[in-house]
Amino acid sequence: MLIIFDLDDTLIDTSGAVTPFKMRCCLQRLVEDGLTVHDLDVAYKELLAIDAVSPKSQESILSFARQEGFDLSKVARALAELKTPLPFDFKIPTTPCAKEILAFFHSTHTLALVTGGYPPFQREKMEKAGLDSAIFSRIAIPEDSVKKPFYSHLAKEFSMVPDQIWVCGDRVEMDLIPAQELGFKTVHMRWGRGARGAKSDKVDYSIASLPELKRIIL
Ligand SMILES: [Mg+2]
Repeated sequence: MLIIFDLDDTLIDTSGAVTPFKMRCCLQRLVEDGLTVHDLDVAYKELLAIDAVSPKSQESILSFARQEGFDLSKVARALAELKTPLPFDFKIPTTPCAKEILAFFHSTHTLALVTGGYPPFQREKMEKAGLDSAIFSRIAIPEDSVKKPFYSHLAKEFSMVPDQIWVCGDRVEMDLIPAQELGFKTVHMRWGRGARGAKSDKVDYSIASLPELKRIIL
């Protein structure tokens, strides 16, 4: 059996650790590039509030800049902050028991990682969370976050039929619907952005923490 994991807010606590840090960097960059704010902390809270209901960090920055009447032609440097390396000693926590759960399933299942984003930054986050990339038989990092072709490719590569394949991720539309369309089984990890809103009825299973996988994937 093959289990395909997502990275951000599934194996690592991106929204708890990385997003707030990056949002502050972006805000500082906007201010350097001419955004006028009366109170930096108030502006930061506003940006986080926008991000809380936004599908992507990039869109949060754009919405915030638009709302503040900022010239969008000057937003590029702030957006670039989202991809710049983190400080050397920056630590990213995993979601609870992520390493243990990967080790548990590694002995009996093939594991793969399909994560959307800028590849060097995705790899850096894995390292800073102390996740051993060798535990995954394959790692794919589609920069545009379109995962379906990678899911199909993995099925072929490991010669698995759809009902032998599980996908676990926090984004229903991005991670799980494409998997479901291929006939894979889906587990919604309700963490970070995925923790907000109602439970989705479009997925096979819904969990609040990874250890729950032990009773679902046998
Ligand atoms: Mg994710």
